[in-house]
Order: sequence, then C-alpha cells, then structure tokens
Amino acid sequence: MELEKFKELHTRFFGRELQEEVLQSEEYEAYEEAIHEDEACYNWATAEKLKRQGFDYKSYCCMMMADKVFESLDEEGEVKYDDPTVVINKWDEGLYGIPVHDGGATMVVINYCPWCGTKLSK
Ligand SMILES: [Zn+2]
Repeated sequence: MELEKFKELHTRFFGRELQEEVLQSEEYEAYEEAIHEDEACYNWATAEKLKRQGFDYKSYCCMMMADKVFESLDEEGEVKYDDPTVVINKWDEGLYGIPVHDGGATMVVINYCPWCGTKLSK
C-alpha cells in the first residue's frame, strides 16, 4: 500500500470507535494488513504512536525495538518485571536482555537486535 494512502486510512481508523461495518470493510482490512506486512507503513504508524507518547524512539536501531522497549515500561517509565507480554528489556546502562518469565528477574543478555541485527552498543 502507498504510504500516503495508509496515512489517510490511519487518520480515519486509528484510535476511534469503529462500527462493525467499517471493521468488515475491505479498506479496513487492507489497513490492518499494511500495518503487519508493509514495513514503511508499520514504521510510520509506530513512530506516530511513540511520538504521541513522548517516547524517544530515534535512539533505537529500529522501530520494532523502540516499540517493544516502550511496551516493557510502565507509566512512570520503569521496567515492568514479570509481565508475560514483555519480550525485551533495556536498562539505563544500554544493556538489552530477554526476560525469562520464571517469577524472578532472570534475563538473557543480548548483543544484537533480534529484529534488525544491529549490534547493540553499551
Ligand atoms: Zn533493531
């Protein structure tokens, strides 16, 4: 999908209470598909979301990493522990890790981004 077309649909659909007939429409289906399958659309929509939240996404290697780190933090910006939806953690020292949901604070430190492969510097 053209990014311009996607932006137009995003304005119409995002964050709104949508009627069942809208959710069933071909346009909505194409919009949903673009978020998941079109990298340019995904990156743009994620940047918009993180911008609105005041999250500094530009310091991350890719939007996927920025979004997953954003989702790993609570409202105060603190790392959420033992939340099974969290797939990655980042600490202030620039350390990244995959949390092991065993009830404790165990994690596997990683040196490369699992999504884009960039080396994660300390
Ligand atoms: Zn990355």
